[in-house]
Amino acid sequence: MNRREFIKTAGVMTFGLMIDGQNLVEARRSPKMKISAVKLYDGGFMMKSFACGGGLPEGSIKEEKLRSSLQNYVIDTGKEIILVDTGFPAEETFPVTKDSVITFGDKINNYVDALKAAGYAPEKVSKILVTHKHPDHTGELRAFPNAKIFISRIEADDMKLTGDNVVRVDFTDGAYKNFSACQKIADGVYYIFAPGHTKGNSIVIVEDGEKFFMIHGDVTYTDEALIENKLSVVFEDLAAARDTLSKVRTFIKENKTVYLSTHTPLGYENLDAQKIMELPEMEESPVAEEKIDAPKEVGGTKWVCSVCGYEFVGEEPPEFCPRCKQPKTAFHKK
Ligand SMILES: [Zn+2]
Ligand SMILES: [Zn+2]
Repeated sequence: MNRREFIKTAGVMTFGLMIDGQNLVEARRSPKMKISAVKLYDGGFMMKSFACGGGLPEGSIKEEKLRSSLQNYVIDTGKEIILVDTGFPAEETFPVTKDSVITFGDKINNYVDALKAAGYAPEKVSKILVTHKHPDHTGELRAFPNAKIFISRIEADDMKLTGDNVVRVDFTDGAYKNFSACQKIADGVYYIFAPGHTKGNSIVIVEDGEKFFMIHGDVTYTDEALIENKLSVVFEDLAAARDTLSKVRTFIKENKTVYLSTHTPLGYENLDAQKIMELPEMEESPVAEEKIDAPKEVGGTKWVCSVCGYEFVGEEPPEFCPRCKQPKTAFHKK
């Protein structure tokens, strides 16, 4: 080999190494975690007594209208696309009357179109994490042909979900921080048992560097309830809901947390601003909450309120939902 040829070869070799070197750097760089809101409705309202009056005597909350919206979240880990909840069914409209205690507001998009607008094609979704069974969180589970659906066993059984893609989660990976039971879904993505709103309710925590993103479904409907340490009127197990809210508050005090809600624009506003939730010091024990009996099991058709999940047994659904005041038309056969 003459000198000229040597330089040529050495040059190619060096170039080759550089390429390998770049590949190495790419491979070692941790994939970028990105969370986006999937926006379905905005501009609605909820009454504060609905969002903050759970377990409290009527009239104990000073009434005011709080902002309301509906959005779910999508996690792009850099390696895969993971949904947290799948919105309200495209074909259904949310009933609104003069007695409504919560509305969604104006429709922006169907879930699948909203997801596409956020930049994600349905067939690219590999996993769905379901916080709970209510229709504004499970509305489009049907729309993702390549996704595994992770849902707590309690919720899956209650919804009578079937199919090879349904993963009934038993939270066998042990504690996550101050929560007692979790299942790791991907690096930095944890699915955590957090019952109360429903018996099989769960939340999702995403780790990104120093920050934690808490996608909590309906642990609270609005941030005011979190800050004031109050439950919503929608729960299947009051004691468990109280315990979950206390754990959520403790987690937020001990970890830099961005709080991502489903039913308030504060959810996507917190996300856009990457705002760390700050909680004032306050007594963590419950404030004179009452025991409210679950509806009695009797024979007949089971009806479920599509707004709050209230279950009613009888020939016909009730004229109004006793919990969230929606009209008869909000009830579906279970
Ligand atoms: Zn709910
Ligand atoms: Zn909800």
